[in-house]
Amino acid sequence: MQFRDLKKQYQVLQPQIDAAIQEVLCEARFISGPQVKALEDELAAYVGAKHCITCANGTDAITLALKAWHIGAGDAVFVPDFTFFASGECPAAEGASCIFVDVSPETFNMDAQKLEQAILQVKAEGQLIPKAVIAVDLFGQTADYDAIRPICEKHGLLLLEDGAQGFGGTLHGQKACSFGDISTTSFFPAKPLGCYGDGGAVFTDNDEWAAYIRSIAVHGKGGADKYNNVRLGMNSRLDTLQAAILQVKLKAFRDYEVADVNKVAAWYDEALKNTGFILPTVPQGMVSSWAQYTVRLPEDIDRAALQAKLKEQGIPTMIYYAKPMHKQGAFTNTRSATADCPITEQLCQTVLALPMGPYVTQEAVQIVAAALTACPQQPLIVF
Ligand SMILES: *Cc1c(COP(=O)(O)O)cnc(C)c1O
Repeated sequence: MQFRDLKKQYQVLQPQIDAAIQEVLCEARFISGPQVKALEDELAAYVGAKHCITCANGTDAITLALKAWHIGAGDAVFVPDFTFFASGECPAAEGASCIFVDVSPETFNMDAQKLEQAILQVKAEGQLIPKAVIAVDLFGQTADYDAIRPICEKHGLLLLEDGAQGFGGTLHGQKACSFGDISTTSFFPAKPLGCYGDGGAVFTDNDEWAAYIRSIAVHGKGGADKYNNVRLGMNSRLDTLQAAILQVKLKAFRDYEVADVNKVAAWYDEALKNTGFILPTVPQGMVSSWAQYTVRLPEDIDRAALQAKLKEQGIPTMIYYAKPMHKQGAFTNTRSATADCPITEQLCQTVLALPMGPYVTQEAVQIVAAALTACPQQPLIVF
């Protein structure tokens, strides 16, 4: 069994993907070929954003957004404590101070009330200027934008949506990657929409930021001429091969993969109900794109032993994430390390992500559920 079955997806889409790759090879426009612009138009339309700028990866996408806002030393950027490292790495690398905020145990996403407390505390300390919130759409589910957006507006903060795991999800029918003043995503192969290497994108409705990001993604070019460099930038492009592959995959994603992965989640929900494992919850009004199906284990369960037992039976599982952001070595001895995030600490001890994706079969779900519930560590409590 695969944790995320990319081979199966390729088998299903092989004729179209092979043809798309062949076309790029024949045209030989490997950088900024016509497929890149075509994909950007399709992505912008799908998400419902005015501009889409593709780039080299999801980490660069966050960095490009922060650079467009000139975020740096002396600025406070609020980031959930329970996320992939890049969400905090990017603002810190720009010189800003990350203020890590605890999450909700039900949604795994930033707790809006604790966000506001953290903003007020930074204001009271008077050392840093609160500048932006990076809200992460963890495991396929959008952050709580109904609560976070008004807090950003009230306190004059920019909102960056890190939609690396959220692409394809919706909140009140509105697509992920359209909630931030700037939103970003990743096309890392295992993300909800993945390419065959690294890739990313930035979304915004703001013309000025979009133009600025297009410039700094290509060495600070002025207008269309990349040899006229009006500012310092970086080299962060999505190459034509990845764009061509993504065009095929976006169609499958839109046509059936998001629906299918939701079926898989429903099978897990059914197979694991009343077993003592705490199942992921999707709040009213949200549709997840299920980057992960993450259960929580009761605290008395030996997670490592359970994982080993499952592995013996050929069932791969993962721990996203084993360490709170504020405890990462990179933040030792910084203001960021002082965060108080008990929920994140607890989640890091108890989460377990199960094999997931649109190509997981109902039979596979039954096998995983049977293995989980047959383990001697199985919780006896029935909720
Ligand atoms: C994967 C991921 C990123 C970074 O994307 P890359 O394409 O790997 O650089 C950023 N934020 C989150 C939440 C992610 O899961």
